[in-house]
Amino acid sequence: TSFNDMGIKEDVLRGVYEFGFEKPSAIQQRAVMPILQGRDVIAQAQSGTGKTSMIALSVCQVVDTSSREVQALILSPTRELASQTEKTIQAIGLHANIQAHSCIGGKSIGEDIRKLEHGVHVVSGTPGRVCDMIKRRSLRTRAIKLLILDESDEMLSRGFKDQIYDVYRYLPPDLQVCLVSATLPHEILEMTSKFMTEPVKILV
Ligand code: AMP
Repeated sequence: TSFNDMGIKEDVLRGVYEFGFEKPSAIQQRAVMPILQGRDVIAQAQSGTGKTSMIALSVCQVVDTSSREVQALILSPTRELASQTEKTIQAIGLHANIQAHSCIGGKSIGEDIRKLEHGVHVVSGTPGRVCDMIKRRSLRTRAIKLLILDESDEMLSRGFKDQIYDVYRYLPPDLQVCLVSATLPHEILEMTSKFMTEPVKILV
């Protein structure tokens, strides 16, 4: 398979090629299609497999830029990963005019409020700050249609479980969920059965 065969919008495709990719990695080949078909997806993948671009590509394809509401939310265990994901989305979504913002601890809340007020399509963040921005009503959740839980096992081992469940409670009921994790311990499976419907399982 090539990126051209994946039904990706022209302007997003341009972003992918300019980012320097020639063909999709295994996880990109296997996870992007079911996500674009609207399926819930569990991807068991380590970092280094191209999972960040898989997430960015899926998000860029799903977002409707005629609206200025947040439509996709990505939760990550660390500030570094959350901003890495934000930057990858900005690069791949450049020609599609996709606005992404990261909500992470250690950065000014005022800046988050300003960016969110101005309107962004995608938020990438750590569970604590995202939860905070939702509770302050700066991050509006009603148009969110895709939730991505990146490095889920890592988020759980860093003690983010309650905050993830907290965020989930604010999201619309017909939400699509994609969970990425290097390992699938019991607590992750518990989360998938709570958040997901008939998920497609992908092992890379
Ligand atoms: P990740 O697993 O998302 O952290 O990606 C690991 C590295 O692989 C990053 O440096 C990416 O830029 C690179 N990468 C991801 N997807 C591709 C691809 N389809 N072709 C070439 N390099 C890629």
